[in-house]
Amino acid sequence: MDKRGCLLLDNVTIAYGKSVAVDSLTLELGEGELLSLLGPSGCGKSTTLRMIAGFVPPVSGHVMLNGREITRKPPHKRNIGVVFQSYALFPHLSALENVGYGLRMRNVAKTDRLERAKAALETVGLGAFAARLPGNLSGGQQQRVALARALVIEPEILLLDEPLSNLDANLRAEMRDEIRALQQRLGITTLFVTHDQQEALAMSDRIAVMKDGLVTELGTPRQLCDAPRSAFTAGFLGARTVIDGQVEGGTFRAKGTSCAGAPEGATQMVLRASRLRPAAEATGPLALAGTVSTVSYLGESFEIDLAAASGPVRMVIPSDLPPPAPGQTVSVEALPGAVTFI
Ligand code: ADP
Ligand code: MG
Repeated sequence: MDKRGCLLLDNVTIAYGKSVAVDSLTLELGEGELLSLLGPSGCGKSTTLRMIAGFVPPVSGHVMLNGREITRKPPHKRNIGVVFQSYALFPHLSALENVGYGLRMRNVAKTDRLERAKAALETVGLGAFAARLPGNLSGGQQQRVALARALVIEPEILLLDEPLSNLDANLRAEMRDEIRALQQRLGITTLFVTHDQQEALAMSDRIAVMKDGLVTELGTPRQLCDAPRSAFTAGFLGARTVIDGQVEGGTFRAKGTSCAGAPEGATQMVLRASRLRPAAEATGPLALAGTVSTVSYLGESFEIDLAAASGPVRMVIPSDLPPPAPGQTVSVEALPGAVTFI
């Protein structure tokens, strides 16, 4: 179970009737890579995944898997493992039978099938639960069965559609790390669909940011966080404040704020919440002040929202620092890496 593959989507357009859901998408996944499709609900992530799996034909374009064209192949003839958001387990089949199902579809002989299904259940840590029905398994265990069922066919690539969204918060973080570890151990090329930026940042080698059926930006988590090229990426990757303005003589200016050291032609200033601190008065290149509207305690941190003349500003500070009080007026101090311009 350590097949590696690469996947190429070449100028793929997908439509439901006359309505285009994915527009001229070109994307390449390298061997052993985990790439996330990240974007808000309705942007075309699941449609892209279903097209790759063979359930939705593209209107135009090509899909290549390991150099072979698979654009028009039926799903069961593509060597692709899929985990859906709902898991889609058969309720009347045991965990073992669920996992073996894909092998039955592929005409694998019974003894071989059972052996491989057992091994796949062991891979996901469920060796002892082979005889259980899905209804008698926890959400996390059902999730693992679905993963084992995708892996048992020894797929060339793995497609995961929001596989963590039905789990509670603690389990979600645990499964996230488990799936990433398993993916790296098997070296399996994986497309991971999510609307959760934390999930995408934590798991991915690269992230493709999607909006309205288009990939708007592609990069490593670090690239997208440190130097987003669009306000949408900056906003979507969480905890970003985007302020519209213009640059005159190297200084960015917007209503009630300015920042020295801006490149000519920039029209937006992006502030990273975790690199901002409340201060009694402005020091450094950023001049920005506002009234604290809310302070939320998040355990490890405080999330502080300010109302400034330029619009809302968010800061996230470690919880060992004293937070300002709601209603207080504070200046915003920018730590290194806080400010980028678009
Ligand atoms: P995401 O997974 O990013 O939330 P989808 O790929 O499910 O988005 O949907 C993309 C667009 O296609 C949306 O506008 C959605 O309403 C539409 N869509 C999805 N599935 C169907 C379908 N079976 N029939 C018609 N339109 C659909
Ligand atoms: Mg979806």
